[in-house]
Amino acid sequence: MNNTVRQEQSLILIVDDEPFIRAQLRLSLQYEGYRTVEAQDGREALSVFHQLQPDIVLLDAIMPDMDGFECCTRLQLLDSTRHTPVLMITGLEDKESVDRAFEVGAVDYVTKPIHWPVLRQRVKRLIQQSYLQQKLEAANRELQRLVTIDELTQIANRRRFEEYCLQEWQCMAREQLPLSLILCDVDFFKEYNDTYGHRAGDHCLQMVAKAIQDTVKRPADLVARYGGEEFAVILPRTESDGALHLAESICQSVRNLMVPHSRSQVNICVTISAGVATTIPQPNSDFQEIIDEADRALYQAKIAGRDRCQKYDKIPSSTVDLWKEW
Ligand code: GH3
Ligand code: MG
Ligand code: MG
Repeated sequence: MNNTVRQEQSLILIVDDEPFIRAQLRLSLQYEGYRTVEAQDGREALSVFHQLQPDIVLLDAIMPDMDGFECCTRLQLLDSTRHTPVLMITGLEDKESVDRAFEVGAVDYVTKPIHWPVLRQRVKRLIQQSYLQQKLEAANRELQRLVTIDELTQIANRRRFEEYCLQEWQCMAREQLPLSLILCDVDFFKEYNDTYGHRAGDHCLQMVAKAIQDTVKRPADLVARYGGEEFAVILPRTESDGALHLAESICQSVRNLMVPHSRSQVNICVTISAGVATTIPQPNSDFQEIIDEADRALYQAKIAGRDRCQKYDKIPSSTVDLWKEW
């Protein structure tokens, strides 16, 4: 879609209490190829704006009840993401209104009586600017998505994981609430690749990622690809029992995929092992602590036979056994 096409489709909201001025504006803007919609006061303007999301607003400064300045202020609140340009229409000698127009967030102004060539150029420029601004913001959002999403599995990547882990670590430290972390690793995945090929391996990772993602329910929980065939789940405000329960569900979800794995030594299908750690972070401590603990628990799950989850124990069970014997 090029700018010209877009411009002609643009919808302009005309707000003025004088019907004659509205009609003049409507005719001249429609003549330029724009679509128009009208409101006769501030209140109606807010309602039409909300319903139709115009591309630009032409707003008379002086109107009874809610004047253009108050209306402009309220429009900004309604429109915090789109930044729809507001072009204020002020009296010719009314310098104070011009200052106020900018203060309340209008991007430009025209004076009454309206100088039509000036209005035409301003409307055209503002619509173009707004269109480019929106394209830029969309491109930035996409860029932001790309740097935080894992290409293969479309879940959060390692970078996003670290960012979120640090954020929640600090937040839980402030609130003195538990943070849990589950680290999962696909069992015998080297053998899977060797048997079924790398492409099948990639597909398997996509299915495992989806199974984990679908098992995790709370909006604050984050599932990420931590490394090759390793996944991490960050669970803010989650106690150890809850995290272990979820880890078990995740292991079961992966089993339920029933992806055949003839060379797994623990099952006939693809399985994962999971390590779970829970901590109430201490102020000024390092979030790497919880990662190390979950990693140690994962290692324990691997040596205990894989296809299972293991909670991190500050005192390893072998030490407890020694105590009991003693
Ligand atoms: P364990 O049960 O102890 O976890 O054994 P494993 O074979 O899963 O572990 P190992 O670390 O020896 O092998 C991991 C394999 O994962 C090796 C690597 O080729 C594979 N892998 C890592 N990333 C990808 C990927 O993006 N795609 C595919 N297809 N394979 C990957
Ligand atoms: Mg691994
Ligand atoms: Mg593995």
